[in-house]
Amino acid sequence: MQGLAIQERKESIFTKGEQRNTLTCDTDSISGSVSQRACVYCGARVVLNPITDAIHLVHGPIGCASYTWDIRGSLSSGEELYRNSFSTDLREQDIIFGGEKKLTQAIDDLVTKYHPPLVFVYSTCIVGVIGDDLEAICKAASLKHQIEIIPIESSGFIGNKSAGYRAACEGLLRLIKNQPNPIPPKEKNTLNLLGDFNLAAETWIIKSYLERVGIKLNVTLTGDSSYEQIKKTPIASLNIVQCAGSMIYLAEKLKEEYDIPYLRISFIGIEDTIASLRKIAAALGDEQIIKNIEKLIRKEQEKTWPVIDYYKHKLQGKKAAVYVGGGFKAISLIKQFRELGIEVVIVGTQTGSQAEYQTIGDLVQQGTVIFDDTNPAELENFIIDKGADLLVGGVKDRPLAYKLGTAFIDHNHDRKHALCGFVGAENFAKEVYSTVCSPVWKAIRTGGMTE
Ligand code: SF4
Repeated sequence: MQGLAIQERKESIFTKGEQRNTLTCDTDSISGSVSQRACVYCGARVVLNPITDAIHLVHGPIGCASYTWDIRGSLSSGEELYRNSFSTDLREQDIIFGGEKKLTQAIDDLVTKYHPPLVFVYSTCIVGVIGDDLEAICKAASLKHQIEIIPIESSGFIGNKSAGYRAACEGLLRLIKNQPNPIPPKEKNTLNLLGDFNLAAETWIIKSYLERVGIKLNVTLTGDSSYEQIKKTPIASLNIVQCAGSMIYLAEKLKEEYDIPYLRISFIGIEDTIASLRKIAAALGDEQIIKNIEKLIRKEQEKTWPVIDYYKHKLQGKKAAVYVGGGFKAISLIKQFRELGIEVVIVGTQTGSQAEYQTIGDLVQQGTVIFDDTNPAELENFIIDKGADLLVGGVKDRPLAYKLGTAFIDHNHDRKHALCGFVGAENFAKEVYSTVCSPVWKAIRTGGMTE
């Protein structure tokens, strides 16, 4: 297959209309293919890191904590403790004789200094090898300090990034289930938002839409959340799940254990934002909320479409490549690019499911390349082959795009402006235009400056 870096990757790629329409996904990366996926520990850390008043203690060598320091770029309306990255800094002696004493000491020091209500202790690859007993250490420390200290079993050998998501969900579930007092009854028209991490204040945008129509946002898991808020998770009457890859497991568990139904939603792009608001209204079944949501949709569209149309006119015929973490985002982006008159010609994800790839396959045009867990060599080949004008990805993909002289948009942790909801759709259109139509690309290709 054209563009393939190594033969073993063949089953993870297909071109719509030319080959079978299924691919292998949710498997461990193939050795030698330099996956862009993060590790198990990182998967767990990105989900839990936005909990603002928690200590995040990484039991491992210093590099693990360093590479995930402040990784989400999530914003907080209160505590800032989560923005630190604490590590037990395991060295050679600890690997030989064990790191348990060091971990106990680190927890003691951190609790004494910061007085947090909650500590997460993450295991890393080497801890999986030396076998330190995180469960026992956290239990003893929890009794000693009378706060919750939760081990997150995220050593690298238990799977891929998705296993880290699951480990994080297990940690959250433990926190939710451990209730010191009886849980109050469910509250009407109150929901939890799962899988939003308040990047560039996005949780607050969604919250403002919900509040405008009379819906209370109980807690977001995990953007701008706190220990106390997470404890209140069971009082919601509905869960809405944005990043399904990271949170669908928790949504299922909350349905099982607390009888909270869930909906998959997406606030990326106008089409999906409108559809999500209507889905929420229908699920709550409150006549007034249904009316309020329709009013909000009308009002927001009046402002947003003229902006989109302005940029659409300038972007006709451009082609985009999409490589993002989760399937929900890829699906929404395909629709959002269409709103701008742009076709997606390459699309892939790090942790998409079979069902999500099926939806992607149904949405894209014939000839579009679809892949799971790709690597830079493949991405480069496909971008050149398909003539993409723009790559949407995460921070690791930026240098590749720039070296190819291709426009780039960060749709991951490092961006500074919101890309969700109506306001996000306007920001996105403006950014697509600014980067795709920048004169710099012409200058790079011609080796000189443009006038
Ligand atoms: S050592 Fe393991 S846990 Fe640490 S960053 Fe590398 S892959 Fe992740």
